[in-house]
Amino acid sequence: MPQYPGRIVVIGAGPVGLCLSLALAQADVKVCLVEALGDDNFLEQVPRAGTNHPATLEMLDRLGLYQKLEPRGIVAPVFHYWDRHEGKLIAAFDHIHLKDDTRFPYVLQCERIKIVEEALKMAKAHPNIDLRLSTEFTAFAQDADGVVARLKNPAGGEETIDGRYLVSGEGARSIVRKDLGIAFEGFTYDDRTLNVEVAYDFRRHGYAERNYISDPAEWSNLFHWKGPPDRWRVHFPTDPHADEIELMRPQALQARLQGFLPTGKPFDIVGSNLYVVHQRVAAKFRAGRAILAGDAAHVNSPIGAMGMNSGIHDAINLADKLIAIARQQADDSVLDRYERQRRHVAVAHTQAQTIRNKRLLAEKDPAVRRRNHDELRRTADDPVLARKFLLRTALFDSLREADAIA
Ligand SMILES: Cc1cc2nc3c(=O)[nH]c(=O)nc-3n(C[C@H](O)[C@H](O)[C@H](O)COP(=O)(O)OP(=O)(O)OC[C@H]3O[C@@H](n4cnc5c(N)ncnc54)[C@H](O)[C@@H]3O)c2cc1C
Repeated sequence: MPQYPGRIVVIGAGPVGLCLSLALAQADVKVCLVEALGDDNFLEQVPRAGTNHPATLEMLDRLGLYQKLEPRGIVAPVFHYWDRHEGKLIAAFDHIHLKDDTRFPYVLQCERIKIVEEALKMAKAHPNIDLRLSTEFTAFAQDADGVVARLKNPAGGEETIDGRYLVSGEGARSIVRKDLGIAFEGFTYDDRTLNVEVAYDFRRHGYAERNYISDPAEWSNLFHWKGPPDRWRVHFPTDPHADEIELMRPQALQARLQGFLPTGKPFDIVGSNLYVVHQRVAAKFRAGRAILAGDAAHVNSPIGAMGMNSGIHDAINLADKLIAIARQQADDSVLDRYERQRRHVAVAHTQAQTIRNKRLLAEKDPAVRRRNHDELRRTADDPVLARKFLLRTALFDSLREADAIA
């Protein structure tokens, strides 16, 4: 029988793989962290997540990451719902209502790329993390005692690495999930989302740092990011049949932005990309010694900023269980609890909430729109209801519910 070392093999140095690796390493559990990207291209990833909810800030603080991220981000206590059709602010929600629930009554607008850059520096410096950059994971095998991962090293040669457990933090295209034949249940929206990044201060028009903008014809999201130069991301839905090259032409992007906010002057566009949105959850988060976390286990629309946040919550939940196993304080049935807790959150919170969020912004029926907006206004204006609403949107409810699962 092979003798496996006690280490955990983590695939993917995204926010989830990095947070998991740091949490394990800081508790004296050895990790081998494998990442396909290298020092030469790690920072060239497309813009993605960036809103960090209060519950996630508590976890980033535990890892020693929060202090590094706060100066690189924007502290944003307030977010808005707007009605673009009527050009009106519907409701402003202030996280100050959570002041007795958390040390962080705000979100931190700090992009994924800054999080992984800072976390990677910490991983490089940690003696318990064996970091393999420019190394591609290709396959794995497991038996009752351990796992063996097959890797392509930077020189293009084949290598294997073994350990006690394998965690897929590979993102949505997880090889581990596919190799295990685990279904990725759910659906994909027809319309792709267009993200345009603009150097322009939208606050002068009354917008907050984060804005969800409903419109029966063209809903939007508008988010502020720290520069230099400061940038705002504007999201638009697109016609599923539209030609991609046509959608991305600079004149087409300018026309959309002018439709959103007619300034009469061209916007300074600093980036743009188009992405497909999936709503999917893996049927299982664990098969023996192989475990899924983050986008490998669940993907969702970015409306509500729940993908990366809930992935980091997976990482911390899983880290605590793997640490307990390593210290012989628990047997590996706790990993089934990880699956019960985090799969419940993915289905009942992240999926349900993000699907609702998109429906709310895109609603076409005027009577339903009016009802939705009245409800938002009433909720924001009542401190008790506003706190209840924020406990859900800031993901505290999902954590409390998961805690209650045996
Ligand atoms: C446009 C957009 C906006 C978003 N906005 C938000 C937001 O505001 N808030 C939010 O919470 N979420 C948001 N999300 C979702 C968020 O980006 C993801 O949920 C998050 O990045 C998932 O983290 P992860 O670590 O699981 O996977 P990833 O971030 O995908 O990282 C996976 C890592 O694994 C590596 N990897 C993959 N395959 C291999 C392999 N075979 N071998 C070695 N390495 C491999 C990759 O190179 C990568 O570094 C957004 C997503 C998109 C597309």
